[in-house]
Amino acid sequence: MLLHFIVQDFMCLGFTFVVLLDKSWISRIRSRELERLRGPPWLKIMQRVLLNCMYTTLDYAQTGLIAAVFFFKMMEWWYQSAEERMSAPTVYPPPPPPPLPKVAKDGLPLPPDRTLCPLCCQKRNNPSVLSVSGFVFCYSCIFKSVSQHRRCPVTLMPATVEQIRRLFHDL
Ligand SMILES: [Zn+2]
Repeated sequence: MLLHFIVQDFMCLGFTFVVLLDKSWISRIRSRELERLRGPPWLKIMQRVLLNCMYTTLDYAQTGLIAAVFFFKMMEWWYQSAEERMSAPTVYPPPPPPPLPKVAKDGLPLPPDRTLCPLCCQKRNNPSVLSVSGFVFCYSCIFKSVSQHRRCPVTLMPATVEQIRRLFHDL
């Protein structure tokens, strides 16, 4: 892309150079054309004015074309870099949290105070999470429950004691 841009710039510069070189040649042709005008003086003046107008327009058209090419190239570069900035953000937004686990109809109801263990309804001792559901209990309570029933007491999802993880949030 950059190489393409550089090549195009060089082509533009080359074009400008050729135009500058040819300026004297063009003015020679133009003066010859003006000398070749025939007819009554008023017609010659009219033709001269018309030709001069045409030449001036052509001169400015060349400059305008080069300016337009540079302008469009600049716009392309500007919008492309803006697009790149938009498509590749440096800081990604955090992913949304997973949905809340559903309490099973026949499962253990959660205590109103969410800081208590749902099994013994006391302040959690050695808080431990059951990874299949995400609910937190005392380590001894959940270990006993999962060993006996092989499921989460709240969601009734199948679980093993290997899926109990100790939480160390208070250390
Ligand atoms: Zn407990």
